[in-house]
Amino acid sequence: MTDPVLTAPLNFIDGERVPPTNTDDSQDFKVYEPATGKVLCECKSASEEDVDRAVQSAKAAFEVWSEVPALERGRVLQKVARKLEERLEELAVWETRNNGKPIWEAREDIKNIVECLDYFGGLAPGIVGEHVPCAGGSFGYTRREPLGVCGGIGAWNYPLPNIGWKAAPALACGNTMVYKPSPFTPITAPILAEIFIECGLPKGAFNVVQGQGQTGEYLSKHPDVAKVSFTGSVPTGKKIMQSCSNRVAKLTLELGGKSPLIIFNDADMDNAIKGAMLANFLTQGQVCCNGTRVYVQKDIHEKFLESFVNKTKTLKIGDPLKEDTMMGAVINEGQMSKILGYIDGAKKEGATVHCGGGKHSTSDPNCQEGFYVSPTVLSVDDKMTIAREEVFGPVVCVMPFDTEEEAIQRANDTDYGLASGVFTSDIKRAHRVASKLQAGFCWINNYNMNPFGLPFGGYKQSGFGRENALDTINHFTQVKSVYVEMGDIDCPY
Ligand code: NAD
Repeated sequence: MTDPVLTAPLNFIDGERVPPTNTDDSQDFKVYEPATGKVLCECKSASEEDVDRAVQSAKAAFEVWSEVPALERGRVLQKVARKLEERLEELAVWETRNNGKPIWEAREDIKNIVECLDYFGGLAPGIVGEHVPCAGGSFGYTRREPLGVCGGIGAWNYPLPNIGWKAAPALACGNTMVYKPSPFTPITAPILAEIFIECGLPKGAFNVVQGQGQTGEYLSKHPDVAKVSFTGSVPTGKKIMQSCSNRVAKLTLELGGKSPLIIFNDADMDNAIKGAMLANFLTQGQVCCNGTRVYVQKDIHEKFLESFVNKTKTLKIGDPLKEDTMMGAVINEGQMSKILGYIDGAKKEGATVHCGGGKHSTSDPNCQEGFYVSPTVLSVDDKMTIAREEVFGPVVCVMPFDTEEEAIQRANDTDYGLASGVFTSDIKRAHRVASKLQAGFCWINNYNMNPFGLPFGGYKQSGFGRENALDTINHFTQVKSVYVEMGDIDCPY
């Protein structure tokens, strides 16, 4: 029997799941289970009318939610966090079935959105203005006011955390949100929307509209959407920037990357190898901030490469619902072909394949049609396509370097600037290099650690705005200055 989660409508508007009004079948899409390649369900796209209804519902809810005392808003978010903890296993299984990542990673994802809700729920009552003393006893103060209806548009690699990174700060500040998940991972967003309502969020304060690019465009162009927070690729980010420009809507762009990881000859070798694994193989390598360009100092390059390749070969790939699986399936057939195309292109351009290099075949009868790619380690040079473009798969480029200056110059020679990493035991060098890398994040002697409190976001074409920290509040509020005259007016007229 089909699970009700897969047969219920996936749009959630004004406090309930609703079937879309769309009669146009051309935008309908199938939702796959990457591990098996089978269709999980079929989804209808929200029409322009559905998106408008969601925005109007969020607009009405804004009048209510923005007046709720901040402490109470924070309590609601933290109540949602407790509910998610109770339902962790069920939600983790859905994330794995819809996304293909190993179940242990999906559990970490649920813990991530729990932390996010706790963090921003705790911050809510601290969102305050400033008092500015002025001449003659007059003074000013600032009010940090919410923006109104915010549109959230997300990617598929971290479905629930992606919602948390946007909705938690938006709601903490008193905004409401209409969220459009990726069409590849639509299943858990309406479950979260139900939990929000169950925990006291007013109906309409968090709505979900499903669909492809067209639905995203309806949302980002909507005149009543005051701000868009987008996570996805650079080309889509540029289109959304255009959609927002007409009405000068506020925008946060969390885009792609091709991040460098620099390993110096004085680094602890075991930790550097672990760091390079973490930098590349979580979620089948489909992580925006992955350190896919690994620069290793010449005298340890050979030793590093050998150990890194050996460790990579031990990764157990297969059914992501099995507890001992280390890498699951990539999101869909298109993504698999794209990754394999990049690897083939790299071979033609002269790259050396040390391991992987193709599709992974599994003996598991359930997974024969799944989308599995072997983790791949390549020796390349900086000019090759694979060393310059975001692959978004388990593919690592390793390159030797001589000097610190050279490593920094090569690391920065990219249009992206999302993240970076450095492994060294020289404390001065670590901070010197971190200061020179043109990226919004730098890990020293670790990689892909993202605790709440540290802002996350890009330099250059990796975007702007910051998520996951105090600074995020600035991106979901606007500041009003109020001047208060305490004396008579000194007027030349
Ligand atoms: P994508 O750009 O293809 O799609 C992202 C979202 O935008 C989807 O919901 C999609 O339906 C929607 N969309 C597509 N066209 C649109 C349009 N014209 N107007 C409005 N919305 C539109 O990206 P993806 O393949 O889902 O995600 C992978 C990309 O996301 C990678 O480049 C990755 O690096 C990036 N990413 C960045 C971060 C970050 O925090 N910086 C995090 C995760 C993923």
